[in-house]
Amino acid sequence: MLKGRTAIVTGSTSGIGKGIAEILAANGSAVMLNGFGESEAIEMQRSELAQTFNIEVLYNAADLSQASQCADLIEDSERRFGHVDILVNNAGIQHVAPIESFPTERWDSILAVNLTAAFHTIRTVLPSMRKSGWGRVINIASTHGLVASSEKAGYVAAKHGLIGLTKVVALETAGSGITCNAICPGWVLTPLVQSQIDRRAQSEGINLEEATQQLLREKQPSGRFTTVKQIASLALYLCTENASNITGASIPVDGGWLAQ
Ligand code: NAD
Repeated sequence: MLKGRTAIVTGSTSGIGKGIAEILAANGSAVMLNGFGESEAIEMQRSELAQTFNIEVLYNAADLSQASQCADLIEDSERRFGHVDILVNNAGIQHVAPIESFPTERWDSILAVNLTAAFHTIRTVLPSMRKSGWGRVINIASTHGLVASSEKAGYVAAKHGLIGLTKVVALETAGSGITCNAICPGWVLTPLVQSQIDRRAQSEGINLEEATQQLLREKQPSGRFTTVKQIASLALYLCTENASNITGASIPVDGGWLAQ
């Protein structure tokens, strides 16, 4: 389906990004991996993907909290692949605290990784997408891009901003063969959410199973997690020709979270 295409997936050494990199590779796209982790584990992930799907898989260690490294990631990908067709802005971080005690350096880093990085990757990649007349920009936002929860000031502000950025890019690229959309997951069981479950279990003196059920009950009426594969399948769909007239959309995959 994506044979001959090239993709960058930020934050693809873990969780949702890892699943998106895998489904794009499985469908024939070359992939640039990015994210933190142990170099041996990342190299194993890279070589396994390349061998399993017989495509080119590269890795760039850019720290996306740094503007210059965001641009470097795009330029390095363009140099090594020749061009970039698909950009998935997925890297994200979280911090949970009331606003009065929200550490200002955490605010800065959340805004940098969850929002500003996407501005830099998009502005750098668009010229080459325009040249080829085809492109897909997929921003992994969140239900927290559309509604708030308490104690997530940085995350909610950044994700709302990411949805605004998605709409602007969609308007500026409309009719050019490029689309820009946001996916808004509810709860997906990844390390980012597991750490929130662990914290809840500890602070409330309950076991992990009870903390997990509480977390789901509070927000996600389906009572179950969305899987990484379900999010990745939507990202893949957005890369198809059938999705060529979907742009500027914020698509929830949230077990009914936003229906309440
Ligand atoms: P995760 O913690 O499993 O993965 C995050 C990835 O981002 C990792 O690969 C990490 O190395 C990378 N990363 C973090 N900081 C980085 C930086 N400065 N530079 C480069 N890479 C960096 O988290 P996840 O749950 O898979 O989250 C992926 C995205 O999905 C995030 O944007 C998150 O906000 C969003 N999201 C997740 C959920 C959920 O329930 N898990 C829900 C809604 C939205």
